[in-house]
Parts: sequence; structure tokens; C-alpha cells
Amino acid sequence: KLYNQVQDLKGSIRVYCRVRPFFPGQPNQLSTVESIEDGTLTVHIPSKNGKGRKSFNFNKVFGPSASQAEVFLDMQPLIRSVLDGFNVCIFAYGQTGSGKTYTMTGPKEITEKSQGVNYRALSDLFLIADQRKDTFHYDVSVQMIEIYNEQVRDLLVSDGTNKRYPFYRSSNKGLSVPDASLVPVSSTLDVIELMNLGQRNRAVGATALNDRSSRSHSCLTVHVQGRDLTSGTILRGCMHLVDLAGSERVDKSEATGDRLKEAQHINKSLSALGDVIASLAQKNSHVPYRNSKLTQLLQDSLGGQAKTLMFVHISPESDAIGETLSTLKFAERVA
Ligand code: ADP
Ligand code: MG
Repeated sequence: KLYNQVQDLKGSIRVYCRVRPFFPGQPNQLSTVESIEDGTLTVHIPSKNGKGRKSFNFNKVFGPSASQAEVFLDMQPLIRSVLDGFNVCIFAYGQTGSGKTYTMTGPKEITEKSQGVNYRALSDLFLIADQRKDTFHYDVSVQMIEIYNEQVRDLLVSDGTNKRYPFYRSSNKGLSVPDASLVPVSSTLDVIELMNLGQRNRAVGATALNDRSSRSHSCLTVHVQGRDLTSGTILRGCMHLVDLAGSERVDKSEATGDRLKEAQHINKSLSALGDVIASLAQKNSHVPYRNSKLTQLLQDSLGGQAKTLMFVHISPESDAIGETLSTLKFAERVA
């Protein structure tokens, strides 16, 4: 326990894995996942004699039947530490269709049971802030941005339906991240409304054929400022909840023009993120933050005393094995 506390003070990097279930109505097929035991995931690798397999270790592995509540339970301490003044980054990584958005936000039609980490994290923050109200006063504000082709787009731009929220610019508030609207919130309902606004803004410009959400990173940032009511001491914590662009490799011989450019940007930023986390994990003195927009933006929340969770997602279908292995190798590198 003491060891954990020391670890906590030093900041930490955790790596989790979640396996998506097969889709309803999908013909029965063999999952690439052979077994999940504690933190070890073993996958089948098709080979000539049919016996290839490889195991990967994680801090935690969630199988296809894990519920949203179960998944959140393991992330809860991390999220709560934001109220104690820590910076936290949670990344959802994986190929398109592997369940990143499901984990972070939820399915298309979100019910209370299927709410993702974003909603649960915010309601938890408000709940604890309320429990501490005799000793602390907390101010919470949120930002939502998208990074597409290394360009940052503010997603909390009022579309006229959100008149009751003041939209501040963060640039003049001494906050390092990101230069985008900062909106004070005081309840989970506020956050849900703003997340919906962000989703609407995100969809602008996307067509059915051009689902930009899988080719851009989206980041919900929550800034928390706590004032100790007796001593007046101020604590600042911030949390970044990042739904990364799909990690799949595009076929260079097929992609051209915009699609190729997008793919190159995604490739570059995901490997830059991997490089940063891997060098933090190895405690290298030089951490290459400058190589991508995402790592530049999150620099102050990665490393030092900050806590990082890389949450990788894999699809169970056997024809996804190539991408599954590359996701698992990415995870292995940053652990
Ligand atoms: P990604 O964001 O990685 O592209 P999605 O989160 O959109 O993937 O997931 C793809 C589909 O699979 C969606 O229809 C989603 O609702 C469903 N799905 C993903 N993960 C789960 C899960 N753990 N349980 C049930 N359905 C899931
Ligand atoms: Mg998605």
C-alpha cells in the first residue's frame, strides 16, 4: 500500500486493454482472443500449423462481457486524483471499430447503463466535490477540441442553443492547454449538454463517406480548481480524456491525396504519442514532446507527477489480427 502511494506521488503510466464483443447478428466465428487471465491476454495467430499464439501483459484486461460500470471502477481512483491536484491523461487507442468511442462516450443511443468514461468521470467529480464541500470549494470547467491533420479545432463554439453558458477563451487564463473555449460547469447535466454541442460541431463538415471522427483525435479536458476553505490553498488538477484517431494503417498503394495526407498525420501523431509515453516509462531524460500537436498540447499533463492511462482496444474478428497485433505491440512498447 505504501509502495502504491509512493508510486502515486511519482506519477504513473498504466496500460489497459479491452476486447470488443462480436456484433449482434454477426455469424459465429472464433475470436482471436484465446484467453484472458488477470492481466494477460493471449491471442491466436494464424499460422501454417494453426497453433501460433502470443501473450501480452497489461495492468488490466477487460473481456467482451465487461460492463461500462466495471471498466469505470478501475479508472475511478485515477479520476478522483484530479480533485487532489493531479493531472491525468486517458487515451483510447485502437483501430476504427474496436470500441474506443464506446469506452469513452458510449454507443450511439446512450442509456444510463451504457454511459462511457466521460460521463461517469464528470458525475464522479461533482459527487466528490459535493462530499468535500465543507472543506473545499471546487470550480470545474471543460474544453473540447479536435485535432485533425495537426490542426486544433475548438468544439465548444456556441451554436446559439447554449446561451446560458459563458464561453471564455483559455489563452488569457494562464492555462497551458489548449487554446480553446473554456466553459464553467456545475453539474453533470451541463457537461452532457456541452458534450452534445461538441458532437454536433464535430459532425459539421463530415459526410457519411467521410467519417472524420475516426481520423481525428478528440479531447475533452476538465480543469479543476480547488480552494481549501481554511488555509486558502489552491489546488489545480486537470484531466484529458482522449479518443484517438483510428490506428489502422492505410494501404499506401491505394491512399492518395487527402486520404494519404490524413493517414500520414495520424501515423505521425500516434507514433509521437507512443514515443513520449515509452520514454516516460523508461524515465529517459529527453522526452520528445515537440513531434506532434497532441503531445505538445498535453506536455504538462504527461510526465512529472501526472498519471497516464493508455487504454488499448481490440476487435475480436480473426481478419483483424494484423491490426490487433500492431495495437498490442504499441501497448507493449509504452508499458
Ligand atoms: P471506434 O470508436 O474504436 O471506432 P466504436 O466505439 O464506434 O469504435 O465501436 C464500434 C461499434 O461497436 C459501435 O457500434 C459500438 O457501439 C460497438 N461496441 C464497441 N465496444 C462495445 C462493447 N464493449 N460492448 C458493446 N458494443 C460495443
Ligand atoms: Mg470512434
